[in-house]
Amino acid sequence: MTENKPLSAPQKAMRKLGLVRDVDLALHLPLRYEDETRLTNLKAARDGDTVQFEATVVSQSVSHGPRRQLVVVVDDGTDTCTLRFFNVYPSQQKALAVGQRLRIRGEIQGGFMGRTLMHPHFQKAGGPLPTALTPVYPSSAGLPQAYLRKAVLSGLSRAVREGAFDETVPPDMAMPGTWPLVRALQFLHNPTPDLSWAQLEDRTHPAWQRLKAEELLAQQLSQARSKQERAVLRAPVLPIQSQAHALPAQLLAALPFELTAAQRRVVEEIARDLARPVPMHRLLQGDVGSGKTVVAAMAAAQCMAAGWQCALMAPTEILAEQHFRKLIGWLEPLLLPQGWRVAWLTGSQKKKDRQQMQALIASGEAALVVGTHAVIQEQVQFKSLALAIIDEQHRFGVAQRLALRSKTLAEGADGATCEPHLLMMSATPIPRTLAMSYYADLDVSTIDALPPGRTPVVTKVVSDTRRDEIIDRIRTQVAAGRQVYWVCPLIEESEALDLSNATETHALLREALGAGQAKAPQVGLLHSRMNEADKKQVMAAFTSGDMAVLVSTTVIEVGVDVPNASLMVIDHAERFGLSQLHQLRGRVGRGAAASACVLMYSTGEHGRLSETARERLRAMVETHDGFEIARRDLEIRGPGEFLGARQSGAPLLRFADLDTDQDWLDWARRCAPLMLARYPEKAQQHLSRWLGGKSDYLKA
Ligand code: ADP
Ligand code: MG
Repeated sequence: MTENKPLSAPQKAMRKLGLVRDVDLALHLPLRYEDETRLTNLKAARDGDTVQFEATVVSQSVSHGPRRQLVVVVDDGTDTCTLRFFNVYPSQQKALAVGQRLRIRGEIQGGFMGRTLMHPHFQKAGGPLPTALTPVYPSSAGLPQAYLRKAVLSGLSRAVREGAFDETVPPDMAMPGTWPLVRALQFLHNPTPDLSWAQLEDRTHPAWQRLKAEELLAQQLSQARSKQERAVLRAPVLPIQSQAHALPAQLLAALPFELTAAQRRVVEEIARDLARPVPMHRLLQGDVGSGKTVVAAMAAAQCMAAGWQCALMAPTEILAEQHFRKLIGWLEPLLLPQGWRVAWLTGSQKKKDRQQMQALIASGEAALVVGTHAVIQEQVQFKSLALAIIDEQHRFGVAQRLALRSKTLAEGADGATCEPHLLMMSATPIPRTLAMSYYADLDVSTIDALPPGRTPVVTKVVSDTRRDEIIDRIRTQVAAGRQVYWVCPLIEESEALDLSNATETHALLREALGAGQAKAPQVGLLHSRMNEADKKQVMAAFTSGDMAVLVSTTVIEVGVDVPNASLMVIDHAERFGLSQLHQLRGRVGRGAAASACVLMYSTGEHGRLSETARERLRAMVETHDGFEIARRDLEIRGPGEFLGARQSGAPLLRFADLDTDQDWLDWARRCAPLMLARYPEKAQQHLSRWLGGKSDYLKA
């Protein structure tokens, strides 16, 4: 392609689809196929079939119903049927004149007016039939199938000729039951019709198997390589300190509870990583309420005990503030005697306060820094950062994580540049298949049990026509000294959606709970348009127990911890995603009191819930297990949405399906490290074939 010639519209459209190199074109595989290789007869065709037949026009007329139509009746000798076209113009009328013999292709619809084809394709009868199935490619506006098909086929033959698809998988890593790569590609772009159509459609054909395996291998190679690249990087060594007077042991002794066995196990896993001279890249996953914060605190203690700084970032101010309070409560009494401080950084901070904090961080006086994105801003200079902890990691984008890594390079004892260790925490457990594919470059620690003494949350699904009953229930809880969350999906009335909004609900609940009367319980409102100071004030009142009911939009979704809250009402529950519902439910059942979660749905004007909404609510009632919920969420939504921010980093699989192609994923996981070790050039060739210039992102 010459660079100075302006691109045509289809060429531009191809660029947008990422079809730049011949290799990209060759790997642009059909969505489905159409069979134009055979002619059928009308008598044999059933309603709903897509058919191709040759027939003679026996009549033509223009009907003047509600819409002008060209109505053509054809006869193929076995039966007749009607063709209908909404556009009537002379050249078409001529081509469809009585006596013309035509080859016609389209879907047969039954009906009491007789069998009909709407807007079928047609051409003159006779002429050779194609010998291969006709591929239909993923395309976009301005890119006709015929143009794309031609470009793909010529891209394929050039790429094959130039050796771009020479085998990269070493012969000793055989791929049983698949075709050689070039043959598989040629076949998928041009399949002969003499085989089971079903195998092509459901992608179980050996040619498809080959492409899926190759794709998974590319993904595993890229992850294995970034892991390998990390292994040669240096990180500060933070030795495990087990003496009773060392900070970690002091912290343990100061906690109001014992760690669970699951927490102890992950604390040890992290501790071992921190003691190695290689940057840790670990994901700590644990269901909502499983107690990740204290695990983070233990890691921080190990880091600070070795004389280094630690940073903890949370996605929202409320959450950051909660961590801050918690960590201060636990750690400050232990740090102060050493002259160490805990610093606090957020966007809403006054400039003077922030500068003061920045000075503490730069001098090294602040051993621990807690905050929001503000922590990775340019003005923030650490003296010696050795551990960065990111809470709710899926809420941070790839770019933000890259920024953290690039700005936090620390200087090792011998003056060499080090990267800090990275601990990411998430309450959205990653299903096993995703962990093995998209997160294969991470080590994963899992807290698989909740702290003792929790009572399971009873989940109820009710229609919003029973709002009054629910308000009664709130009254009872509040009278018993318990606290209640009420979550609404939107802040303002939207004409289109007619959702009850938080402000209105707030007013309603205040009224219902006796606003103005002596000893009326406090009902608060929290939504994302409030300023940070007001938000904090409301949160503080709820956390202290002064406020009985908190009406909020989903700002409380992550991390908030108020053990006395025993009832969670989710308004318009049908509008929330499964993981979100699970996170919200996790806000209650944190204390010993029996807790409940009410999923209140509204059927709106349709009078019933959509099938997926119904499925989500059912899943919430049936299970409390975060892993099971994540698995179902994946099933309902697919991995694209699930991966959130990481989506822009890891290439989504185009052909392989983590559910059905589990065996190939296992194979690719075994194959990738061997290939990198023994056949690095082949590995490189394989990667650039599949990922082209995109592989940089993968290191995020
Ligand atoms: P999450 O994993 O959702 O971040 P948190 O760290 O907020 O959970 O912990 C939830 C609650 O459980 C907090 O109140 C915390 O103090 C408490 N907690 C954590 N570990 C234990 C434990 N081993 N025993 C009792 N309570 C614990
Ligand atoms: Mg948390």
